[in-house]
Amino acid sequence: EGTCVAVLEAKARLIPSPQYRSLVGLGYRDAFAAADHVPEILALEPIGLEGFEGAMIDGLRRKGAPNLELIPEGRGYLLAEFGSNDPGTSEQRARGLIERLTRLPDPPNMRLYTKTEAKAVWRIRESGPRAAGGGPGMPPRFEGWDDASVAPDRLGPYLRELRELLDSYNYQAAYYGHFGHGCIHMQVSFDLFTEQGIRNYAEFIERAADLVVKYGGSLSGEHGDGQARGALLPKMFGPELMQAFRDFKAVWDPQNKMNPHKAAVDPYAPTENLRLGADYKPQDPPTHFAFPDDQGSFAKASLRCIGVGACRKSTEGTMCPSYMATLEEEHSTRGRARLLWEMLQSEVVQDGWKSEQVKQAMDLCLSCKACKSECPTNVDLATYRSEFLSHYYETHSRPLQAYAFGMIDRWARLASVAPRLANFANNAPGVRQILGSALHLAPERQIPRFAPQTFRQWARRRRVPDAAMAGGTSNRSRQVILWADTFNNYFHPHTSEAAYEVLTHAGFEVSVPAGHLCCGRPLYDFGMIDRAQAYLQEILRKLAGPIDAGVPIVVLEPSCASVFRDELRSLFPSDDRAERLRKQTFVLSEFLERQAPHYVP
Ligand code: SF4
Repeated sequence: EGTCVAVLEAKARLIPSPQYRSLVGLGYRDAFAAADHVPEILALEPIGLEGFEGAMIDGLRRKGAPNLELIPEGRGYLLAEFGSNDPGTSEQRARGLIERLTRLPDPPNMRLYTKTEAKAVWRIRESGPRAAGGGPGMPPRFEGWDDASVAPDRLGPYLRELRELLDSYNYQAAYYGHFGHGCIHMQVSFDLFTEQGIRNYAEFIERAADLVVKYGGSLSGEHGDGQARGALLPKMFGPELMQAFRDFKAVWDPQNKMNPHKAAVDPYAPTENLRLGADYKPQDPPTHFAFPDDQGSFAKASLRCIGVGACRKSTEGTMCPSYMATLEEEHSTRGRARLLWEMLQSEVVQDGWKSEQVKQAMDLCLSCKACKSECPTNVDLATYRSEFLSHYYETHSRPLQAYAFGMIDRWARLASVAPRLANFANNAPGVRQILGSALHLAPERQIPRFAPQTFRQWARRRRVPDAAMAGGTSNRSRQVILWADTFNNYFHPHTSEAAYEVLTHAGFEVSVPAGHLCCGRPLYDFGMIDRAQAYLQEILRKLAGPIDAGVPIVVLEPSCASVFRDELRSLFPSDDRAERLRKQTFVLSEFLERQAPHYVP
């Protein structure tokens, strides 16, 4: 917690990461039964043992998440992972677990996963916690009692008593976490908006702390104590040890300057300095996006960031590229989310949608959506950014590059009439420099060259059927639409041609939209949401037949797939056809894995 020392240098003992892993999914009637089996499974020395509740799967199902059929039947789940540097050993151990549990009187439902399935299951586990509380009309949930741990062999009884306590306050929460370590995470529907709600919260965490201490556990398992636990520490350590902590801190930090009031010495109460509180009255302005996972509220979406700082990493993962390049808080997912939150409070940031400070923080966001999947609370900064920019540009004129890049599909379509001429003009001496300085292009960047023949032209010559006509009754189960996105269609048609060959070779009847259709992805980057909405409307109209007939759409460009899965839902929240399109969208690898698992190119 930084209350005694600042670590300037550390030596780490690295733990070997096994080369081969095997994952087993176990489905129980509830999370308590799953927790009761933890000691039995730990005896077989898995390298990981995670658990979660059925409410997470319900939430993911509401969101239309893929691959949920991989989760075994049940309402409480364990994922046991075995590892080894020898290819056969990890699978042998996983099978050993299944055999051992099969012999029990009340065995769980079990499934041993392939490598690809295991990846999908881990994704379900990662994205589940937020989904559990993200249903329409559900109250927001907070981490105010999270991370407590007990010994794994006491986990089942502890979770049962904790559930009784939660129920007595009418709190909703789904357990998940590292069951193998007895460390439980959860987000609870605390009412942190009213005085009575905050009093209930304070009382609940006192009683929850007593419960953990009764089971000989720890108030925090892996995330540290901080202000939320500081005042509760005497319950766990008793007066003598607390005095020892205070004496120790006095030696190292006699003036109590290092992170004061957070742990042993004069801690704040957990309800002091709440981000919300009874006086929390944010603006909740009308928005283009419906924010279906946040009860239709931009203000609620801005509460998603809980400040753990998972976006402030510089060596691994994808989130957040602008932070990795600048190492500035303002250019991290957390920094931006915080600024948007402040904007809605109108205290520190007072000029709302016109704020230059917020605009500046949004400028370096690449809208890559890495935060949407990597952030533990699924902060979707790309969507918030698009919403902000759409309002910001109501009072400011858009720069030239917004029209040049945001509407690239239109320019590319125009250029496709005479691509050689367009390439010559773009790269002619002098023109490149003028374009470069007008559009603020880095001098080392080349303007991409238009292909001599677009993918759609290629498809027309090959007499590939028009996707608008797909969905007829003959051979419907083998029909598929190959989406002709702007970049592959106009700049890299060979990629789409190759995908067409693969799909036909795998036995599918492939059709391609004959007319110009674009998902509008680049428009979101410049806040041109009205135009993007019109593009989507056009797609829903032109492809109405095949969408209604359930013809899947294979998209090569992941960012186009994310428009159909994400933005479409937020812009057309109660449109059945939009929902169908969302569910029928696949990237090529996903589609082949599901529909042609034995296909060998
Ligand atoms: S969308 Fe923006 S905030 Fe989110 S990870 Fe990408 S660059 Fe960072």
